[in-house]
Amino acid sequence: MSETPVRRHSTRCVRVGDVMLGGTAPVVVQSMTNTDTVDVEATVAQVAELARAGSELVRITVNSEPAAAAVARIRDGLDKLDCRVPLVGDFHFNGHKLLQRYPECAQALAKYRINPGNVGRGASRDEKFASMIELACRYDKAVRIGVNWGSMDQELVVRMMDQNARSPQPQGNDAVIREIMVTSALDNARRAEELGLARDRIVLSCKMSGVQDLIGVYRELASRCDYALHLGLTEAGMGSKGIVASTAALAVLLQQGIGDTIRISLTPEPGGSRTQEVVVAQEILQSMGLRSFMPAVIACPGCGRTSSSFFQQLAQDIQRYLRTQMPQWAGRYPGVEEMSVAVMGCVVNGPGESKHANIGISLPGTGEVPVAPVYEDGEKTVTLKGEHIAEEFQEIVEAYVKRRFGSGG
Ligand code: SF4
Repeated sequence: MSETPVRRHSTRCVRVGDVMLGGTAPVVVQSMTNTDTVDVEATVAQVAELARAGSELVRITVNSEPAAAAVARIRDGLDKLDCRVPLVGDFHFNGHKLLQRYPECAQALAKYRINPGNVGRGASRDEKFASMIELACRYDKAVRIGVNWGSMDQELVVRMMDQNARSPQPQGNDAVIREIMVTSALDNARRAEELGLARDRIVLSCKMSGVQDLIGVYRELASRCDYALHLGLTEAGMGSKGIVASTAALAVLLQQGIGDTIRISLTPEPGGSRTQEVVVAQEILQSMGLRSFMPAVIACPGCGRTSSSFFQQLAQDIQRYLRTQMPQWAGRYPGVEEMSVAVMGCVVNGPGESKHANIGISLPGTGEVPVAPVYEDGEKTVTLKGEHIAEEFQEIVEAYVKRRFGSGG
């Protein structure tokens, strides 16, 4: 029996370009480029690729004058491709100068990410922070106050560590660090509001790299404010480690209604696509029943009853085929993203699982008659055999989609 995730904690919708996040809006998927922002062509290509994969916001680093000068050209390049995905600028150390000197950059971005630990120190810090917030107000942009435990505000760390040491009942280091992060996010949000930024233009994040730390810090943050929250496990790592750790942390929080936009910070495998972080983010949201992005493939793991890897290949081909088709299907066949396709390895669970899916195929296991019954909406419609089962099944899926989700379907 499925459990419906509880209502989201944030009460305000934040507009980022044409995308709404927070409040009752769906949880938004975002990603970040790893191209040099100065390389306009490469950055346009990667942002467009991430957007095609399903990223609804894309963050780019704006770390130098040439990078700030490139931002408006990147926006133009994307508009020419009819790619409207909002761009978020990631600023550290010199954001105030870059936004002041490059007004076209300030205008082209839909959101500014400010890391309070990397703005400066003392009075100069307050001035720089104020300058960025004033620019956000002037250009009507959203701001993410993004605290990261790898770059915490050192003055705040010293002050709060000291207070804790002098307390009659000092807390452990981990608890103090979580409290410093939450305090940093909330103090800076309050300061931004005092400077005139509306509450519904503010998003907060407190990223940590440990799963339990991240869960703890966001629970605390959510219990103390109603700002929209950006979730992500920072430096999640590579491959299955990064995917599992991010999923473990985000699933717990999302299930509690915490989190309005997510990013999965995966280190790509050498030569791997940056879009993997988008696919993982979508899969987390879809497996939790929070959003639907694409038809789900239900495949059995295989066992000693399967004599070949044919069904694994078929499951992979179908998955790839569905992902490739989705950009065209999305507009043409409303509801297709809710479809399920079963690819099963033998007669034990094959027919049962196939009958539960919209469309399913049960392949022959070892010693079984070499035929593959196909089920559509619970009924057996055809039995495939011979060399071309994969191609024929794909054609059947395509025809089913047109019939079931096309106009009049
Ligand atoms: S459906 Fe058949 S092949 Fe697949 S895991 Fe179950 S018993 Fe094994």
